[in-house]
Amino acid sequence: MQNKILIIGAGLGGLALAQGLAKAGFHATVFERDESPASRPQGYRISIRSLGMQALSALLTPEKLSRLSKAKVADVGDGFTCANEKMEPFFSVPQGQDAAVQFLRTELRSLLQGGIDIKWNKRLSRFEDNGDQVVAHFEDGSHAAGDLLVGCDGAGSSVRELLPSVYGNSLGLIPRVFDSNRAILGGQIDRTPEWDMLLPLNRGGLVRFLGPNYRSMAVCFSERADRSPTVFWVLSEEIEDRNAPWYQFDQGLECRMRILAHCQQLMANEPWHENLKKLVCETPAEGIMAPWLLRTTQFSDLDRFLMAPTGKTTLLGDSAHAMFPDKGLGGNNVLEDARLLSALLKDAPNPIEWPGLIEQYEREMFTRARAAVQESESAAEYFRNLRSSS
Ligand SMILES: Cc1cc2nc3c(=O)[nH]c(=O)nc-3n(C[C@H](O)[C@H](O)[C@H](O)COP(=O)(O)OP(=O)(O)OC[C@H]3O[C@@H](n4cnc5c(N)ncnc54)[C@H](O)[C@@H]3O)c2cc1C
Repeated sequence: MQNKILIIGAGLGGLALAQGLAKAGFHATVFERDESPASRPQGYRISIRSLGMQALSALLTPEKLSRLSKAKVADVGDGFTCANEKMEPFFSVPQGQDAAVQFLRTELRSLLQGGIDIKWNKRLSRFEDNGDQVVAHFEDGSHAAGDLLVGCDGAGSSVRELLPSVYGNSLGLIPRVFDSNRAILGGQIDRTPEWDMLLPLNRGGLVRFLGPNYRSMAVCFSERADRSPTVFWVLSEEIEDRNAPWYQFDQGLECRMRILAHCQQLMANEPWHENLKKLVCETPAEGIMAPWLLRTTQFSDLDRFLMAPTGKTTLLGDSAHAMFPDKGLGGNNVLEDARLLSALLKDAPNPIEWPGLIEQYEREMFTRARAAVQESESAAEYFRNLRSSS
């Protein structure tokens, strides 16, 4: 009998897993709370290194893999420079190290959606597990039954939050994903030859400018979903008041104007280079994106794996191990989670012994993810100290 896998969330992880499972001959359905693929802007570019690239090679069919290069962002450089707020570099990591490839998120997502059974407008509200089957219930009153439920529903995961109510005392240890005191605000503006001249360090790739008050600004060249070239910037700051109006977002122009005004004021009061101030000042409010309130993860006891005792529910991606973006490791680990789970399922004898298989997946996934979370936290601390000691 063919096993049926329920995947909650059509982000990078859910879609990558669905691709891997389809290639391995499983029947997987993805349930996504968004109304359609176009409901929400999908961010700008994502840097995928060898870990993520190798995972993609394993997950995708040769035909899809051959189309992957079309999702790359053109002419943006894949190096990294760290500089101060006056645009004086501290150090540069040249292009080509660890095969970083810059993908346009919209294009990557659209490639990963191809050939997958995705049900849109399906927000998970609860699920049950009778040991034989797991049943997911959605806010619209519908439900779906399967042999395994995988929570790929991001850092604010409902699946993770529901685990204690479903498994009670027999639940294993689950990771604690929690809000940090860091937020990221940003936007994009048309890339013109003038910006190439005003931002010379950016010709080699992403630049992180470390400013006063532990604030930093990352600037990179990118593209919009329609492939028009842009300059993308993000300001990261330590949160003083989580309820401040510039952290509230509703997609409307008024709130984008509020965020832009906040960023402009921050820059105006501090000694940032004129070109960086100009970048923020000239960004149109329409180019402002939703704020990110960053999260990270605490793992308690890694000698005990297997969260759900039946092995019928697990987590994948940011739902299991949200991490700071300072090293660009999050998405790479999400893809590797998808590769690992697909590979274990592909090689499993039928009928599948679910607790053993999911325990092996969680052991390998959490061991790797814990190291990546620590590396990301260390990188955040490194940049914080680098600026304050300079
Ligand atoms: C500023 C920034 C820059 C980054 N840059 C990089 C980088 O360069 N390289 C890199 O590797 N990583 C990077 N990352 C990390 C990377 O973006 C994430 O790790 C990755 O996108 C997470 O994928 P995911 O599928 O786990 O979660 P998500 O992408 O968050 O997807 C979760 C999905 O689940 C859906 N969902 C949520 N709740 C429900 C529900 N109840 N029912 C149904 N659906 C639901 C959501 O709508 C969403 O579509 C960056 C992160 C940030 C914040």
